[in-house]
Amino acid sequence: MNSPTPPQLNTPLQKVSESPKPADAQKVKKKSAPAETFYITTAIDYVTDLPHIGHAYEKTAADILTRYWRRRGRNVFFLTGTDEHGLKVAQAAQKKGQEVREFVENIALKYKATWSAIEIKYDNFIRTTDPEHEKYVQQFVQKLYDMGEIYKDRYQGLYCVGCEEYKTVSELLPGNTCSVHKTLCQAVFEDVYFFRLSKYQEKILDIIQSGKMLVEPVERRNEIISFLTKQPLQDLAMSRSKVSWGILVPWDTSQTIYVWIDALLNYITGSRGNWPPSLQLIGKDIFRFHCIIWPALLMAMGYELPRKILIHGFLTINGERISKTTGNTIDPLQIVKMYGVDPLRYFLFREVPFGQDGDFSVDRFEKRYKSDLANDLGNLVQRVLTMAVKYNIKWEYKTITKPFHQIDQAIEDLKFDKALELIWDMITESNQKIDLEKPWQLENNPKKLTEIISQLLQTLSQIAFQIDPFMPETSWAIIEQLKSRKAYVIFPRKNK
Ligand SMILES: [Zn+2]
Repeated sequence: MNSPTPPQLNTPLQKVSESPKPADAQKVKKKSAPAETFYITTAIDYVTDLPHIGHAYEKTAADILTRYWRRRGRNVFFLTGTDEHGLKVAQAAQKKGQEVREFVENIALKYKATWSAIEIKYDNFIRTTDPEHEKYVQQFVQKLYDMGEIYKDRYQGLYCVGCEEYKTVSELLPGNTCSVHKTLCQAVFEDVYFFRLSKYQEKILDIIQSGKMLVEPVERRNEIISFLTKQPLQDLAMSRSKVSWGILVPWDTSQTIYVWIDALLNYITGSRGNWPPSLQLIGKDIFRFHCIIWPALLMAMGYELPRKILIHGFLTINGERISKTTGNTIDPLQIVKMYGVDPLRYFLFREVPFGQDGDFSVDRFEKRYKSDLANDLGNLVQRVLTMAVKYNIKWEYKTITKPFHQIDQAIEDLKFDKALELIWDMITESNQKIDLEKPWQLENNPKKLTEIISQLLQTLSQIAFQIDPFMPETSWAIIEQLKSRKAYVIFPRKNK
């Protein structure tokens, strides 16, 4: 191990410096320590984009897990935030005629407001322009420099500003065009600093193959393994000489730190002493940064690695990639305004298995709203409550704590669609039971009537409990009705 002692940090980050441990200590810790905090991270969003439904997808997944594990009694720490440095941001601010600090401030506020509107309850929102973060990033790279992990050399090659990434010709389309952005890459010729990424090639391969750092799903894991076995890793240019909107390289202030190094370190600076991450959710476009550069930086410092990295697919809209240029972004707030928060949260995870690419179609969203929410769940709640009141069934709401192992297992395996399907099976069965038993025909058999409706009330409590991580407002509304015995419509029908 290169460095058993993490860098000295200022007070708010002090805990972080104590927490990351050399990999050797990992084994010892695993045996004796109590259940560690479930520390979950999402990608921090680049502030050139306004929050759209694709961003909401990943944050909601993290929120579901946060609520689930918290309910299971585990300490949870959920980190999200915004990525605010780099040339692309400076250019976007300039386009708008705004001072860059003002520009990033405004967009960070928009992200916070959106997450608050869709019930994303994070524990910390990190901004890479936070002074504590900037200071830590400088200390981190200084330490790498002092250890000989960084050297100066000439960089000659191509750079895509859209990706904020150096490109090799083999990755590009003809004419040095970025395959993601379809724009011409800049020829870059500058003296910059390099991180010795190449020397970690075998180690990175080992941690992924051995599962020391789990990478899921398996297709992505195989993709990285194949990438790492096919070609030698290049050292990473970790500074830029001509980008001023960034964190200064501490020993050479004519340069700024590469925005990806800056961004990756948010997982440490935002962690408030919770280390290592239990689960890091990221999109498939940035998995190389997270599965190659990120563990290499941590290993260089001797820090414990994240337990698991989950790479999810993209959400498309009506089959097309969400993009500002094609103008097909959907603001989650618009949907929330029309339908409420929970239908959005429900739809995002019911339609498509989490991890795969999924499509958001307004048409299918409306169908699901009508059939699954208004008809199945909404009707059930109203029917049961109305009958309970009408037949004067004695009933007292009790908080459910009984787990349903299959549903729990599905959530823990990140199979959210499966969990929702199991919950909806309960809903369907209850509706069928009402249709079959016809309680309204049992007024001359009060014992059976009471039994059936009591069972249905019990199932409603169970459903309210189970949907809570996915649909917290609906869960609350059902419990309210069970307590007050006053039925009201939770998913009003939309006339279109
Ligand atoms: Zn690009």
